Amino acid sequence: MLTTSLLAITSLLSFMMLLIMGSLLRSRVAGVREWCIANVAVLVALPLFAMRGVVPDFLSIPVANITLAGGLLLYFAGCARFLGQSPHWPALGASLGVLAAAIVFWRYGTDDPQARVMVVSAFHAAWLLATAVLIARHVPPRRHPYNYWLTVGLATAFAIGHAVRGAVFGWTPAPGPEVFAPTMFNAVMLTIGAIVMPAMTMGAVMMIHDAMLATAEEAANRDYLTGALSRKHFDLLARQEMARAVARSWPLSIVVIDLDHFKQINDTHGHAGGDTVLREFVKLVRDILREGDVFGRLGGEEFAVLLPGTDTPGAIRIAERLRSQASRHLVAGPFGVCQYTLSGGVATWHEHESLEALCMRADRALYAAKISGRNLVLSDVLPSDETASEAG
Ligand code: GH3
Ligand code: MG
Ligand code: MG
Repeated sequence: MLTTSLLAITSLLSFMMLLIMGSLLRSRVAGVREWCIANVAVLVALPLFAMRGVVPDFLSIPVANITLAGGLLLYFAGCARFLGQSPHWPALGASLGVLAAAIVFWRYGTDDPQARVMVVSAFHAAWLLATAVLIARHVPPRRHPYNYWLTVGLATAFAIGHAVRGAVFGWTPAPGPEVFAPTMFNAVMLTIGAIVMPAMTMGAVMMIHDAMLATAEEAANRDYLTGALSRKHFDLLARQEMARAVARSWPLSIVVIDLDHFKQINDTHGHAGGDTVLREFVKLVRDILREGDVFGRLGGEEFAVLLPGTDTPGAIRIAERLRSQASRHLVAGPFGVCQYTLSGGVATWHEHESLEALCMRADRALYAAKISGRNLVLSDVLPSDETASEAG
């Protein structure tokens, strides 16, 4: 009775988790399909366990166990696909085959329930542990790890539960404890066993939410045409870099870039040609910048690069590299081949200066570069800083 109501409750839980997971199918996040089928497998297996003695043993022992184990493997495969890894289907299939052979052997070769519980528990413990390791090794960088580590913790706890169950059944002398005997130990173990999939699915849903949030944040923070940071996100990161520069006592410089005669590029090569130039320019800059540099599109054909830990001469060197590589950059497309140049203004941040004031100084240098003939990088010269340099 206890067993039946336990299995009924967890079947219901699995059904609810399946509905939640099913609602995420259209999110097109990798792994959702496998996670859904894993819950369907559990929904088939649990009633078969509960109907022990009512339906033929063939259904309530080998079929139920193999279906439940298949559900766990599908859960693992869902995690692998979600994390951008290969699910290793042949290995999953082979391990299920070995389990099926062991169950059939210890049911129809020699009927040994203890051996069956041991092998099934070992299988679940091993794959839950594999799931925990897989997720722990692929927590996405730069994301809050809570949702991932919670799932790792759940998988590890369930793995330990299954290992304990297998060990207890293995070490108790024959004929051993009855799998469904109404003991506290069996009630706890059955609860753990039956709650695995709903709990792990909850973990998966939390990971999916984080992935969808990451995608939404990425879309909001990036300029759609070029993939450079949006102006809003650039401003946010710039303010963070200012705080970091104070904390670490290192310099912080900005290069404001404007592509030269861009209207002419549009007029000659069409708006699509201009768009291609913008996209290719962004790729070029990305190849040149270091990790940690912040690159955004301020609007139109105007961009900015924030260089943490870089003083004015260093920033001029980088801006100069961008200028010279851009001037040799040939952009080809259906519109033909296009060459372009850029002008740049460099300014180095002074503590307590606002971002607006810093950008204004860099803009002033950029304006000076434009009126000096373009295809040029100049740095802002402060009245107090007669040594500020220029290049071009
Ligand atoms: P200057 O050397 O003085 O900067 O001249 P310019 O022609 O580059 O500057 P201006 O500000 O006069 O023109 C900028 C042009 O950039 C006008 C605008 O149509 C074009 N532009 C802005 N955003 C985009 C875009 O997303 N795609 C394309 N193709 N063109 C754009
Ligand atoms: Mg321009
Ligand atoms: Mg402009």
